[in-house]
Amino acid sequence: MGHERLPYYGGRTLDAVAGVVKRLRGRGLGACVSLLPELRFRARGVELEKKDILAILPGLAARGETADLTVKLSQLGQRWAPRECRAALSEIAAAAAERGAFLWIDMERARDVDRTLADFHHVRRGASNVGICLQTYLRRTESDLRRLLKEGHPVRLVKGYYRESTIDRFPTWAETTACMKRLLGPLIVGSSRPAVGTHDESVIAEARRLLALHPRPDFEFQFFLGAKPELAEAVAAEGRRARVYVPYGRLFRYFLHTFPQMDVSRNVQRLLRRPVVR
Ligand SMILES: Cc1cc2nc3c(=O)[nH]c(=O)nc-3n(C[C@H](O)[C@H](O)[C@H](O)COP(=O)(O)OP(=O)(O)OC[C@H]3O[C@@H](n4cnc5c(N)ncnc54)[C@H](O)[C@@H]3O)c2cc1C
Repeated sequence: MGHERLPYYGGRTLDAVAGVVKRLRGRGLGACVSLLPELRFRARGVELEKKDILAILPGLAARGETADLTVKLSQLGQRWAPRECRAALSEIAAAAAERGAFLWIDMERARDVDRTLADFHHVRRGASNVGICLQTYLRRTESDLRRLLKEGHPVRLVKGYYRESTIDRFPTWAETTACMKRLLGPLIVGSSRPAVGTHDESVIAEARRLLALHPRPDFEFQFFLGAKPELAEAVAAEGRRARVYVPYGRLFRYFLHTFPQMDVSRNVQRLLRRPVVR
């Protein structure tokens, strides 16, 4: 099978997303669908966002497909409507559980980590199908991970996406990568659902080495749609679990939400190297 470039973007409609999920399935890859967050300033905005997220799994099922979900708590009003955010998160987790799907909570800004962990613990008390993302560029992540692993929580490790101060983050990407490699061992041994989201072949090699010592057939390698698709396929061909993050929704509004927060130099360089749309 050829390795034609998959687009970064899952599409604007559930029809398009279902097509992408189907194509991934044909390549032995799972999907994790993310409704692109938009700037919402009113409670009605949270309701709309929740309604759109709740429509994803039934929409895929109607087209014969299934996926996991991933959400950003900012899109559910975490910063200004914390109660509504938790209620929405619990509702989404319950709806996902009914369909046998897993729900990941993305990690956003360093200033949101405490409340995101608190929201995760809150929803996790009533839902076993929920996991949390941690960013290895943050100095605090090692201790956050160790605390989460005491209770064996599901964790996805990533390096980190946002523009943060070196008070919070490691000053170099090499330290971020070293931290990710260092935390893979505890993650593999201690998490009830360990996952890593990376395209860094040296990290993937380290995970393979550790998995040979501590076999975890449920360990999941996760990738962005369109980023190094040959890497995802190679991991799947080894019989490992590989899942692709499929962004869905309104691209322009997403950029209004995310652009001011992202680490522009790092992320735009990557985007320019690959087509954003087909
Ligand atoms: C499934 C998944 C979930 C994520 N969830 C979160 C989250 O909740 N919070 C958060 O802050 N971040 C999240 N991220 C983003 C993550 O933090 C990194 O910004 C991103 O994955 C790039 O880091 P890297 O580990 O691939 O390593 P890097 O060291 O940045 O890159 C390693 C190699 O992969 C290449 N590469 C990296 N990204 C791309 C790309 N998009 N296209 C083409 N080549 C690329 C690089 O050029 C380099 O060669 C997630 C990433 C994935 C895959």
